[in-house]
Amino acid sequence: MNNINGTNFNLGLNNNFNNSDPFNGGPKPDIIIQELDSEKIKFILTNTELSVANALRRLMIAEVPTIAIDMVEIELNTSVLADEFIAHRLGLIPLDSMEAEKIKYTRECNCSQYCPNCSVELTLHAKCVQDGQSLEVCSRDLQTSDPRVSPVLKDDNDKGILIAKLRKGQELKVKCVAKKGVAKEHAKWSPCAAVAFEYDPHNRLRHTHYWKEEDEKKEWPLGTNAIQEPPMTDDEPFDYNATPNKFYFTVEEIVMSALKRLQEKLGMLQIALADDTTEQLHLRQQQQRQQEQQEAQEQALLRQRYIPQSDDNLSFS
Ligand SMILES: [Zn+2]
Repeated sequence: MNNINGTNFNLGLNNNFNNSDPFNGGPKPDIIIQELDSEKIKFILTNTELSVANALRRLMIAEVPTIAIDMVEIELNTSVLADEFIAHRLGLIPLDSMEAEKIKYTRECNCSQYCPNCSVELTLHAKCVQDGQSLEVCSRDLQTSDPRVSPVLKDDNDKGILIAKLRKGQELKVKCVAKKGVAKEHAKWSPCAAVAFEYDPHNRLRHTHYWKEEDEKKEWPLGTNAIQEPPMTDDEPFDYNATPNKFYFTVEEIVMSALKRLQEKLGMLQIALADDTTEQLHLRQQQQRQQEQQEAQEQALLRQRYIPQSDDNLSFS
């Protein structure tokens, strides 16, 4: 997110749509960033449809690539934990994935299993030698072959996530291969714990039905986003044509990758639609030609059948 200078950021979803929203012909979709730190972003997405906001949410959850441990070779394990248990724990350790875009998916790589272009090797070797004290093996103990991809740690004192505890004489030696993937393949590649968005905080559109004991307003206090929109008055008429177009998002910092993915997907959709439209156009032209021919034939037939007789004009005279 370092390339955002202001609070207002153009979504760039519609480079090919003549500066107007492709969905309703209105102004371009826009993002206003409210809060931004190393772990979280809060922003308002405006001038777009509910479906786009939801697409963005789903892309953030399932389609932003990250790097996670995918293969584990256990060389030595004399701990009390089973190999599979340790392998599963290793898979779920979050790795720094800022460089995920530069690493290839193994399925797109030319290698047979894995190579430096599509994977990063991490090794772990720990042995407890102390008497009466257990050794905690944590994610910080993983040694990476590529400094760009290492376990996520808060600071220098952070030991990371606990993998196993060893007693005296127990040893753990593993080799891990981390690969690029997306969360729709496996949850270990999920880039965020939660993506949430809210719209219409005053429930002006009546999309939510609040269950209540006595008084809805007392029992359901307004959310923090309610200050962004004018409060509802009791005699406010219901607008049947209103649609939501302002969405309040709270996400961990993966928005840029998700927006890129959304752009790619919309691009693909646009190409597919364009192909479809060309096909439809040809089909329609063909149908039109056939119809014209048919009409011409029918008219010719009619002309043959109803050639005015010389007596016709005389019948009512
Ligand atoms: Zn490879």
